[in-house]
Amino acid sequence: ISYDLDTESRLAEAEGLALAIGIVVADSFTLPVRQVRPNLLFGAGQVENIRIACEQEQAELVVVDGALSPIQQRNLEEKLGRKVIDRTGLILEIFGERAATAEGRLQVELAHLDYQQSRLVRSWTHLERQRGGFGFLGGPGETQIEADRRMIRQRMGRLRKELEQVRKTRGLHRERRERAPWPVIALVGYTNAGKSTLFNRLTGAEVMAEDLLFATLDPTMRAIALPGVEKAILSDTVGFISDLPTQLVAAFRATLEEVTAADVICHVRDMSNPSSDAQKKQVLQVLADLGVVDGQGETTRIPIVEAWNKLDLLGSEDRAELLEVAAAEDDIVAISALTGEGLENLLARLDSLLTSAARTYELELA
Ligand code: GDP
Repeated sequence: ISYDLDTESRLAEAEGLALAIGIVVADSFTLPVRQVRPNLLFGAGQVENIRIACEQEQAELVVVDGALSPIQQRNLEEKLGRKVIDRTGLILEIFGERAATAEGRLQVELAHLDYQQSRLVRSWTHLERQRGGFGFLGGPGETQIEADRRMIRQRMGRLRKELEQVRKTRGLHRERRERAPWPVIALVGYTNAGKSTLFNRLTGAEVMAEDLLFATLDPTMRAIALPGVEKAILSDTVGFISDLPTQLVAAFRATLEEVTAADVICHVRDMSNPSSDAQKKQVLQVLADLGVVDGQGETTRIPIVEAWNKLDLLGSEDRAELLEVAAAEDDIVAISALTGEGLENLLARLDSLLTSAARTYELELA
């Protein structure tokens, strides 16, 4: 499998994702898969190694950072005597936990059902075969599959209708916002970069009257005070993840499209992460898909400020170097969302971009 990230960063990323939903990672390692085994993905010796590691660490869960077929998942669970989930499963859990809006929750449930649907059909076929029959047609399992599939289809149909309703409401909502005299700042960034931390820090505990307009419908939007433009709406978006399962790409497109209506984009980057450059590339790719930046990532339709986050985690040398680069670049501000360092600079930078009010000028990206 080819990824933008090297093996080690990839493993670190997967650990970060697991940690993000409170999974304690006891052990992690890579296993070369030269030839995919349809039954188990891994070779028999590799499965045995996983089992031994599980015993040693008394692990309850095995996360495979790749795609497992339903059959592979089931067989691995049987051999290891533990629950096994794959990357899509893990990401669905994260998005499920983080979905803050009604729309987000509906989208996650839809994606989850879609994932289950594919599992259901194939695992039933598999069971049929285990029972010794080759009856793909007819057979006792067939009516059950049909019934389960119908139930899922009906539920998905209902969810789609609800989603449509929520979107209509949001459309009205957006119109109302467009009439409001406040510009919008969209926070984007790779998952775990620190968006939510920054969002909470900047919006603080103070709930402004204007928030009442949005808060009930969308807790990811809040008004913040800025000296130049007085007020702006800060909008948190869903985090980006490399190699996002296709079911989720479609599901989250609508949420991401909010970004295209922003006046300024604040791209939060975890500078303590060794893969931060690869992550930036991924984020720019998503922005290019949305038509915000051009394919080369050289020009942008909406000004982008990079918030170089987690300054507090850097060693003194890295920190000095990073501060020097940030000081020399207009569109980069070094911050720590955790300690609050640099946030004044960030706000000042966002304020001045919004004040200059030109929505259409092009900004050279770093
Ligand atoms: P999001 O996925 O982009 O919303 O990221 P979160 O805001 O949830 O942050 C991910 C993790 O990074 C959390 O454990 C935060 O506490 C941590 N974090 C965020 N900003 C900073 C920072 O400036 N310094 C440090 N040390 N940790 C941070």
